[in-house]
Parts: sequence; C-alpha cells; structure tokens
Amino acid sequence: MSKSQAQPAHLPIVRDTAALRRALGVWRAAGESVGLIPTMGGLHEGHLTLIRRAKAECARAVATIFVNPRQFDRKEDLESYPRDEARDAAALTAVGCDLLFAPPVEEMYPPGFAAKVSVAGLTEVLDGLHRPGHFDGVATVVCKLLLQALPDRAYFGEKDFQQLTVVTRMVRDLELPVVIRPVETVRESDGLAMASRNWHLTVEQRRRAPLLSKVLMETAHALAGGRAAAAPLLMEARLRLGRGGFTKVDYVELRAADDLAALERADRPARVLGAAWLGATRLIDNVAVPEAE
Ligand code: AMP
Repeated sequence: MSKSQAQPAHLPIVRDTAALRRALGVWRAAGESVGLIPTMGGLHEGHLTLIRRAKAECARAVATIFVNPRQFDRKEDLESYPRDEARDAAALTAVGCDLLFAPPVEEMYPPGFAAKVSVAGLTEVLDGLHRPGHFDGVATVVCKLLLQALPDRAYFGEKDFQQLTVVTRMVRDLELPVVIRPVETVRESDGLAMASRNWHLTVEQRRRAPLLSKVLMETAHALAGGRAAAAPLLMEARLRLGRGGFTKVDYVELRAADDLAALERADRPARVLGAAWLGATRLIDNVAVPEAE
C-alpha cells in the first residue's frame, strides 16, 4: 500500500461537542473502538507515541488539542505556550490519527461555567503545592473531555506522573466508563524527557537540562529494592541540580507509585519525582525505582 493510501488525505477537525459526537457515533455504530489522546498541542514524539499506542489498541484514535487556561497558574506560561495547529495537524495525520477535536475556550467553558472536579489528597503534594489550582483545572477538563467523547480508552503519559495518578483516581471514584492507559516517558537521546516547554530553553539551558533525568535515574537506582534511606539521597540530588545550573529546585521526592504517599525507603513500588527551573522554564520528570537489582 502506498503512503498516501495508508493515511487520510487530511485530518478532519471538529470544534464542538455536537460535531465530535456525530463523528464518533458513526464509528460506534460500526462497532469500532475509540482511543482518546488529550493534549495541549505543541506536539512532539511523546504525544505521537500516545497516538500510535491508541492506533495499535483501538480502531480509531481521536486527539484533542486544548490549551486549558484553568490549569495554568502563571499568565506568562499560558501566553507563551506553543500554538501551531497546522503543524500539529500535519504530525497527527502522519501517524494515522483519525480525528482532531480542537475546541475554542468558549466551547469548553461557556459563560456561567461553574463546575469543578477536584481530587483531594493526591493534588495536595508535589506539583499541587507549587502550582495552586493546577490539578483542579486538569481534572475538570479531562472529565469534560472524557464525557464529551466517551472513548473506550484514554492515553496519558507517565511523564506527567502525578497527572496520570489524579486522572486514574478520578475515573475510578466517579466510575467513568473508560480505561486509562499509561504510556512510558519518551526521551531525547541524552535522556531529557520530551516536553513542549523544552522549546523555550536557550542553547545553554538545553545543554544543562538532561541533568534532571540523570539525577533522578541515579537516585532511583541508589534507592532500588528499599536498600537505602531516601532523605540523604534526595538532599544530594537537589544539591546536584543546583550545582549543575538549575536556578531553583521545587522538589525531588520519593513517592509511592499508587497513592503518591511520601516514603522513607522504596519498600513498595515507587517513583522519584523532580521539578526544577532553568531560568523561566520549569521542567518536571520522574522515574520508577527498580524493585531490586
Ligand atoms: P500535554 O500536551 O503536555 O498536556 O501532554 C499531553 C499528553 O502527552 C499527556 O498525557 C502527557 O503526559 C503526554 N506526554 C507529554 N510528554 C510526554 C513524553 N515525553 N512522553 C510520554 N508522554 C508524554
């Protein structure tokens, strides 16, 4: 089959719930399963890996692009967020995405919109402490997207591990009829986790950025199998990031993989999570602690 036959000529784009449901209704009537991939655009290989996974597991892959104002705690971050729908649509077409839902803000939050989905506990640690309101914004928009599309499966990256945990808990608690599929973090060849915000890094900052993943991986290995106390290793990790040119370290922590409880040792499945700044750009990353070595 030639390339042009294997891919749609262009990607259908819908901008409101009614059009989204019409398109999905046709597929459902034909017995086709649907995978949903929520994004904020600025697509890179990490996002495209989620789409490919959806295509491998579902008959249809539906991407969403919505730069959700409610999950931004800094105005300048929202304003500078990369937006290039034509470029994103071309990338989605190339990986065989079937439909793009790209609603305007008024479609998601019409005048008078007052609902809020909040997942207690999980959102009061890590990024929840450093980005007030962020996870309420995430939970609200993801809940709405899941109800708009009612997909069979929805795909989320482990890159945003706390977000994945919050979404998984929300779906469980509200019994939303969807299976959440986690997808491993996709990295650059030097270990840096791919992220749309990496595009803001200067050449010098980009050179320093892989230290975050390196430090998290080395710390996770030192904690493997619960053999070492976490506190001194986490302290050393924070100091290394500071010495390596990170201008501010929000946290480096050891947390349980299921409920994000703080751990003194990795004596149950755990992740090391970190957030640190290079100038005006905030990077986050996390790695699994090996169970034993
Ligand atoms: P975003 O557009 O940043 O909101 O991300 C949309 C989805 O892509 C989220 O589920 C992210 O966790 C996921 N994602 C972003 N970067 C990566 C990456 N480097 N590897 C895997 N998934 C990612």
